Amino acid sequence: MSGLQKKAYAKINLALDVLAVMPNGYHQVRMIMQTVDIWDELTFAKTESGIVITEDSGELPTDENNLIYKAIKLMQEEFCVSGGVKVCLQKRIPIAAGMAGGSTDAAAAMKGFNELYGLGASGERLRELGVRIGADVPYCIMGGTALAEGIGEKLTRLPNAPQCVLLVVKPDLNVSTKEVYTRLDALKGYEHPDIDGMISSIGAGDLEGITMRLGNVLESVTMGICPAIGKIQGCMRRHGALGSLMSGSGPTVFGIFDNVKKAQQAEREICATGELMVKQSFVTGFVQGFTE
Ligand code: ATP
Repeated sequence: MSGLQKKAYAKINLALDVLAVMPNGYHQVRMIMQTVDIWDELTFAKTESGIVITEDSGELPTDENNLIYKAIKLMQEEFCVSGGVKVCLQKRIPIAAGMAGGSTDAAAAMKGFNELYGLGASGERLRELGVRIGADVPYCIMGGTALAEGIGEKLTRLPNAPQCVLLVVKPDLNVSTKEVYTRLDALKGYEHPDIDGMISSIGAGDLEGITMRLGNVLESVTMGICPAIGKIQGCMRRHGALGSLMSGSGPTVFGIFDNVKKAQQAEREICATGELMVKQSFVTGFVQGFTE
């Protein structure tokens, strides 16, 4: 399908802390978000009315349960647009993996619809609307390196994290974000990552400081469901990763390397080890200075 195209980039969390559970069940978080060079592609074409979605993974709903649908419906209502859209989604970002795949598709859908119908909504306006779809959507609209607080919607842009080689591995297991948070809530206490130290290291362009401070309070919880996570991290370290962490609620694991050959060797070994159940892997890097 020819038409307007948008890339929807995935994210990783360089650090993820949970500060409290609010009375409504939402979690108050503090996270360092980083856009990575793994993306879905959305192609848009105007139609008379309605919303039609096609997708090529065969794993996602194409009806009102797709976050793209929710995002466009919201835009149609907010901006009183009677015209419709057909969206073709080429899915590359691992699904239910802690990489905000659905949220970034929703963010790209909002931007695409904005452009297609010449609505002229600012990035700030799109972010305000995006939180109604999901807590990570405002960040996905903004992109780059950022601190996310509140339920994830309060954003502070940070300087670009220094470039590095990133190995991203998704084990063949889908983890329910809700289950991971429920298990976390049942814990008495846990160690909190040094988010302020991470912010300072990013500001100083200090990759070693960043890798020393990688931390995610959900990691040990998801590892209980998916032990492959720890084994993948061990293999990354043996091949020279400066640091390794699970992203979001997992089970995706990333390793930070200073050398592409080491990352490729680690990838080869991890993918060849059947018990690690690898579904997808990528040798990639950060996307810096994302623009809205
Ligand atoms: P997060 O990092 O925000 O927790 P995630 O990477 O864990 O997100 P997603 O890939 O966003 O998880 O998918 C979570 C669920 O959302 C899936 O089970 C899927 O059915 C549903 N979903 C709806 N629309 C989409 C979409 N466009 N892309 C991916 N998942 C979608």
